[in-house]
Amino acid sequence: AHLDRIAAVEPQVNAFLHVEAETTLEQARAVDARLAAGENPGPLAGVPIAHKDVFTTLDMPTTAGSKILEGYRPPYDATVTRRLREAGLVILGKTNLDEFAMGSSTENSAYGPTRNPWDLSRVPGGSSGGSSAAVAAYEAPLSTGTDTGGSIRQPAAVTGIVGMKPTYGGSSRYGLIAFASSLDTPGPFARNVMDAALLHEAFSGHDVMDSTSIDAPVPSVVEAARIGDVAGLRIGVVKEFGGDGYQPGVLARFHETVELLESLGAKVVEVSCPSFTTALPAYYLIAPSEASSNLARFDAMRYGLRVGDDGTRSAEEVMALTRAAGFGPEVKRRIILGTYALSSGYYDAYYGQAQKVRTLIARDFDAAFHQVDVLVSPTTPTTAFPIGERADDPMAMYLADLCTIPTNLAGNAGISVPCGLADEDGLPVGLQVMAPVLGDDRCYRVAAAVEK
Ligand code: GLN
Repeated sequence: AHLDRIAAVEPQVNAFLHVEAETTLEQARAVDARLAAGENPGPLAGVPIAHKDVFTTLDMPTTAGSKILEGYRPPYDATVTRRLREAGLVILGKTNLDEFAMGSSTENSAYGPTRNPWDLSRVPGGSSGGSSAAVAAYEAPLSTGTDTGGSIRQPAAVTGIVGMKPTYGGSSRYGLIAFASSLDTPGPFARNVMDAALLHEAFSGHDVMDSTSIDAPVPSVVEAARIGDVAGLRIGVVKEFGGDGYQPGVLARFHETVELLESLGAKVVEVSCPSFTTALPAYYLIAPSEASSNLARFDAMRYGLRVGDDGTRSAEEVMALTRAAGFGPEVKRRIILGTYALSSGYYDAYYGQAQKVRTLIARDFDAAFHQVDVLVSPTTPTTAFPIGERADDPMAMYLADLCTIPTNLAGNAGISVPCGLADEDGLPVGLQVMAPVLGDDRCYRVAAAVEK
């Protein structure tokens, strides 16, 4: 049924980069065979899932939305991929994304933009926009994403679904094509909070293949989603998020939802996190710096594309031609920015300074979580914007992640849950719930209360 749905709506939505019915059916038959042999087929046996094309997959190509990886077939499964299979999930295909997960609209994909199922002239968010659109368009009940600065929570908000960024290190980066290694976090998308929690538990947890993986039990997010009770919980509204520049319809739904939580017995207070206003510039130094280093591996020798290798050119010339042809404009912008920020003479002024700001943000969270159990804000300042509107204005594009970035810099947990439609355009609005490191269950608890 899902393959039929994909065939019917993909011409309009373009959520997938790769779907191969036979590979999917083979997986489904393997789950059946495990069942028939009396083996445990996994907690989510037979449930279809769309998988972001930034995780390596043995049986499907992996492009990260880039021309430089066109046709690349990885020799191994990412840990997240392997755990999806072990849970019995059936992978429908690989979803579209901004190239190397750099963007907030999926317009930076080398394979064309994905469209928002709510309004095909608008973006589905990004970078995990293929994954959010696939779930919102009923092409899949579940999908995977990665969140480096908001790439799960922001697309979830603008497509009216649930998206969770786990605590950094709570989900494995092994086999996830790296953007900014100190920020990248795999997480789930679903149409309701419980489904997201089930997927979260299925692929999270310690992994010896990822040196930053946390060796601690996965927070009981399924149990928290079941409870969904906020009586007595202390909720802090982030003072710095929600003033000028926010769409009135987003603010209206946000304030109503806060009132709802209060009526359910939560204690709501305003909390100031002054350093959050400097998170965006700090992120746009740290993330490109790490990207410039991570993307050095695309050297025309090891993977995918190779341009100009006709026997007359040096390795360096082939590398330059390949990178010039294989990377899109946003990726090049970040490599240049990151290389500059890390260069001798500028390192302390830019990268070093941004790292200090990062510490201040983590301290703001620490202080806030001494006062309250969770923090809330709108997930995004606006609803889904029209395709093309911000494509030529990187600064406007970067603002989409204003509210989500502090959580990435501090490494704690955040979820986006739908909280209604904006009056002016009828498009979905998301509530962001942020919790301390390894407090992922609190995000699900509040989100489940909002959903009820
Ligand atoms: N939009 C942000 C960026 O472009 C975040 C992307 C992400 O979380 N992968 O970097």
